[in-house]
Amino acid sequence: MLNIVIFGAPGSGKGTQSELLVNKYGINHISTGDVLRAEIKKGTQLGKTAQGYIEQGQLIPDDLMIDILADVLDNLKESKGVIFDGFPRTIAQAEALKQMLAERGQDVTVMIDLEVPEDILMARLINRGKQTGRADDNEETIKKRLNVYHTQTAPLVDWYKNEGKHHRIKGFGELEQIFRDVCEAIEKRF
Ligand code: ADP
Repeated sequence: MLNIVIFGAPGSGKGTQSELLVNKYGINHISTGDVLRAEIKKGTQLGKTAQGYIEQGQLIPDDLMIDILADVLDNLKESKGVIFDGFPRTIAQAEALKQMLAERGQDVTVMIDLEVPEDILMARLINRGKQTGRADDNEETIKKRLNVYHTQTAPLVDWYKNEGKHHRIKGFGELEQIFRDVCEAIEKRF
């Protein structure tokens, strides 16, 4: 089983690379952002709770997020592998993921860290906001999300380095080149 954590700041291209990986390797994609946005759209209680945090650029509390992830993972059957996109975002989530996978006799195969300079992230997200109307892609909320990323999520780089799983990729420039680098990193770990 291939378990790929695709990691990076908001706007680093996790979703884009995930889609390409799904096509190439026929694996499943879990995007926690997409899961939460689907709940918001359906108007569920979970969606209402999530919306408050997302609009503030804050993270959904770990306990809740870990339960959601466990549920999604339980519902994946006959999977060749999973791309975790947007999870983990905190050390507590990384520890929970490690345990969930261990219970299935598995582990994270590789953590792909997409490195993109801050000015490029900002420009990409503002542009996405204009094109999609995504509520959290406005300048004020983007700044908060980048701040949350630096304080709560970036420490995962060292955590995964410690696990021997971290693989840094240059996440800007030509899309195809980024994808080639991502695939190369994955195939080294097969
Ligand atoms: P991006 O990575 O571009 O910020 P996502 O679509 O992955 O966007 O996530 C959007 C929002 O959903 C986050 O800003 C956060 O509020 C919430 N979210 C997504 N994944 C998690 C997570 N693992 N833990 C806590 N909150 C999350």
